[in-house]
Amino acid sequence: MSESYDIVVVGGGVAGAALAARLARAGAAVLVVERELAFRDRVRGEVLYPWGVLEAERLGLATALAAGGARELPYWRTSFVGAAPPEPRDLRVEAGAPALAFSHPALQEALLRAAELSGARVWRGASVTGLTRTGGGVELAVRRRGEARPVRAKLAVGADGRASGMRRLAGFATSRDRPRLVFAGVLLEGVHVPYTAREDDTAQLYFHPSEGLLAMLLPIGGGRTRVYAGYHLRSGRDPAVGRSLEAFLALATRAGTPAGALQGARAAGPLAAFDGADAWVERPYAEGVALVGDAAATSDPSFGSGLALTLLGVRQLAEALLAEPDLSPAAVERAGRAYATAQAASYGALHRKIDWLTDLYRTPGAEADALRARLYPLHAAEPWRVPDVVAEGPAGASDEAARRAFFGEDLAGAGAPG
Ligand SMILES: Cc1cc2nc3c(=O)[nH]c(=O)nc-3n(C[C@H](O)[C@H](O)[C@H](O)COP(=O)(O)OP(=O)(O)OC[C@H]3O[C@@H](n4cnc5c(N)ncnc54)[C@H](O)[C@@H]3O)c2cc1C
Repeated sequence: MSESYDIVVVGGGVAGAALAARLARAGAAVLVVERELAFRDRVRGEVLYPWGVLEAERLGLATALAAGGARELPYWRTSFVGAAPPEPRDLRVEAGAPALAFSHPALQEALLRAAELSGARVWRGASVTGLTRTGGGVELAVRRRGEARPVRAKLAVGADGRASGMRRLAGFATSRDRPRLVFAGVLLEGVHVPYTAREDDTAQLYFHPSEGLLAMLLPIGGGRTRVYAGYHLRSGRDPAVGRSLEAFLALATRAGTPAGALQGARAAGPLAAFDGADAWVERPYAEGVALVGDAAATSDPSFGSGLALTLLGVRQLAEALLAEPDLSPAAVERAGRAYATAQAASYGALHRKIDWLTDLYRTPGAEADALRARLYPLHAAEPWRVPDVVAEGPAGASDEAARRAFFGEDLAGAGAPG
């Protein structure tokens, strides 16, 4: 016998737990199916941009974030190799909210607890092995503690992350950017940045564009720093950065991390490397199945937008469903389509901006150096030309005129971009 729910959410990460909390609070019968019995460090996002903080507040999740140990990370400093480190931005002033930093597993635990407290049922140690569309609903084959536990849903939601099995089971086609960046990360203790008085409250980003390298030091509290280092595939760097801490630290240092900052640092979690390119589905809803979070669109992790994009998508899906009078098949279909349109527009805008920024700041070589030589003075004089992904994400212009403005092609006599 199948158990029946309004919504079955597969995956209890940030996407699944946030959606379950919002919909259960509104009175829906929600089941979350989560594979892990206890969350562990999978080297995932631990900083939420200000526009994501605002999305969390709109979803009513501010208390859950605080319960998950989220702390303010208001200062943001971007340094380029060879130049003195600039004063950091204060995101509270420039973006209307600070970024938040946390341990990802602790945040997952807190959000899933919030979903339960809102009335959602949560099955841990359970995963989905099959999906059948029944006409007017979806039947999912679930295995829990070795037992088959079929469930029925008016809407099934794949919130099972970047390697989503639901995406495959439901027949969504995945598009991918060409591989371009390798992005590795590890949690470190004992990191010390010499030149800042507000070390615990400042995100430090380092770029060495000519060599296609970058590094990020993100303090998450408790003396721990999430450190990332990445290289463009054309930089000819050592692929061992995802396996060897020594190679990873050498890359972070070469990218511009100040001498001594990483000396004496110790790993406090696993080291892992990822593809720094996007993967997405064109429309994350089809016939009773929606995808949210990374399952719908995995944005290049080196831009740190995944969690904010996830919460935006969760709000878009929740609002579309809650705008309907009920969860009849026709209402689910309407809500699913409205969500897919809204999500594709937001994700498309962010993706375009990230592509332009990659061309300018993360691509090595003489052609990209020439582009930088042409655009840096223009951008310094007219900063409005540069998309601010940290502060505004997909909001703001991302059309052809915005692209031309970014590359200075709107100016008389401008050449083609490099
Ligand atoms: C290296 C790296 C750095 C990043 N840095 C940032 C950052 O600084 N800021 C930022 O905003 N974003 C960052 N991101 C992106 C961010 O981590 C993701 O966007 C976010 O975790 C997506 O949440 P999710 O819930 O969609 O997926 P996930 O976090 O992957 O959660 C999916 C959940 O589904 C469960 N699951 C999977 N398969 C099944 C199954 N078959 N059955 C049941 N459960 C299942 C998993 O156990 C997990 O709990 C980074 C990503 C990477 C890889």
